[in-house]
Amino acid sequence: MKRESSHKLRMYLCYAIVISLYLCTGETLRSQPNISNNEELQSKAVDSVKSIRMAEMTWPDIKSAIEQGYTTVVVAVGSTEQHGPHLPTMTDTRIGDELAHRVAMKLGHTLQASTITVGCSRHHLGFPGTISLKDETLRMIILDYIESLIRSGFNRIVFLPTHGGNFPIVQATLKEAQIAYQGIEIIGVTDVMKFLDCLNAASAEFGIKANESGAHAGELETSIMMALEKNLVIKDRFAPGYVGLTGEKEIKIMWEQGTQALSKNGVLGDPRKASADKGDIYLNRLTEFLIQEIKEQSH
Ligand SMILES: [Zn+2]
Repeated sequence: MKRESSHKLRMYLCYAIVISLYLCTGETLRSQPNISNNEELQSKAVDSVKSIRMAEMTWPDIKSAIEQGYTTVVVAVGSTEQHGPHLPTMTDTRIGDELAHRVAMKLGHTLQASTITVGCSRHHLGFPGTISLKDETLRMIILDYIESLIRSGFNRIVFLPTHGGNFPIVQATLKEAQIAYQGIEIIGVTDVMKFLDCLNAASAEFGIKANESGAHAGELETSIMMALEKNLVIKDRFAPGYVGLTGEKEIKIMWEQGTQALSKNGVLGDPRKASADKGDIYLNRLTEFLIQEIKEQSH
């Protein structure tokens, strides 16, 4: 978790984008592509499952869904941290929740567990409103989620981190759980570099440079939040933050001295070219990327 490398900054950027992808929250199972060829099973599921969000369901309905083949569950791992003067502190969590929902809908026969809303954000603690977990706390939360979800009857559990600071601990904890729970598929999309490549490719299509799309609260995350929560985005505060190189030196500064040592307003990037239309496209790209990664990891 303490690895000081440009990896982390890239991870952050990727996470922000990933979170935004989960926009399709309003859909029900009726529109969910079903991976089963069993029409009877499918019609039963459609009749009984009105939502795939377990937080909105009763235990008998969750039990019934699992018995009907909804044995995969998706969990987003977000954060509660400053996102510059123009985005809310729930940004990573909101984007993660949306992406997890979209992924669950596309995978089919999948439920969504409550998103983990606080993550490892100590480098943002210099800004009011940031709440940070210790690495060990997040590890324990993830392990408790896994134990609980296995007790419920799920046999495939997918974790989707959407905040850079969470990626290393999610990756390490899932490796630990995979050894402890053999026979249960425990998957996570935790390759930050791949994630960042997906994001950079998306913003590059609009001629936006990587230092503008940004690692944190830049054009990319801002566009996604404009698509998801336009009333919570404060446009007249759009201003560039740190837009220089983000190499190992800069990441070291951020981790050792806090984000404020690199960016006074807490932004890494420049939100001024952000738009909801681009945010929608970024969400679609991220969802496609996540689905592909999950399928590659699945047995
Ligand atoms: Zn973010």
